[in-house]
Amino acid sequence: MEKAVQVCRFNDQRVGVVEENQVIDVTAVTELLPVLRWPVPLGDAFIAGLRSLRPKIEELSKTGERRDLRSVSLLSPIANPSKVIAAPVNYTKHIDESRLDAGINFGTEVSAIDRYALFLKSTSSVVGPSEGIQIHHHDGRRTDHEVELALVIGEKARHVPVEQALKYVAGYFIGLDITIRGTEDRSYRKSLDTFTVLGPWLVTADAVNNPESLDLSISVNGEIRQNANTRDLIWSVAKLVSFASSAYTLYPGDVILTGTPEGVGPIKPGDVLHAAIQGVGAMDVLVR
Ligand code: MN
Repeated sequence: MEKAVQVCRFNDQRVGVVEENQVIDVTAVTELLPVLRWPVPLGDAFIAGLRSLRPKIEELSKTGERRDLRSVSLLSPIANPSKVIAAPVNYTKHIDESRLDAGINFGTEVSAIDRYALFLKSTSSVVGPSEGIQIHHHDGRRTDHEVELALVIGEKARHVPVEQALKYVAGYFIGLDITIRGTEDRSYRKSLDTFTVLGPWLVTADAVNNPESLDLSISVNGEIRQNANTRDLIWSVAKLVSFASSAYTLYPGDVILTGTPEGVGPIKPGDVLHAAIQGVGAMDVLVR
């Protein structure tokens, strides 16, 4: 098996391999992708081909142009998800804080994921860390950060049992599920432009020993707001993939956000978010 790899998208739709503090340009690998004509199949062609592209990526990374990681603009590691699936209230302590804080619950009942199952976010809300988060409501309403472990599906999946579910995951990254608090439907409040920040890059699934036990955190202007571990997920990563595949046909490139732990809070223009997941990476995101 090839060595695990961290794949990013950067600048003007370029593809890179991240090694320590450098990005190696392997954009030439995209020449191996099929030339598609309308109607194109659902899903992301790069992620669909990732397994077969990896030998070429590894070869190109030996000679590709190297740049300082800090000098590039990181885009979403997934270019064309057919859907972004997300888990509501999937950590017990986040349920507790949501019940206690009217600024989060807006007088509505807060229950666990077993009651809500899943929701979808618009694919047009997806950005990478370099694009930042745009605040849309300036009327005093809360726009909150939510840090989550995110994953991308690597092959078409339908009715996958829990025990097999993680085999369908191509890679992991950080997901920020940005949310306006209020009474509207989640699909409105969480789907505005820039409200799904994915990054800093995709870590191939073989590099992540156990996604069910990863530290994740986010700070705002240097102050830690959320700090938890995926072992406290109510529905495990595997269960989320399995359940999602029982509801929807999953296509390569489909993204699943696994839910946020306690500590959600408001963000405002000028804030700098720093999000990190153990074994995955870290990213800074500016609020505009
Ligand atoms: Mn969320």
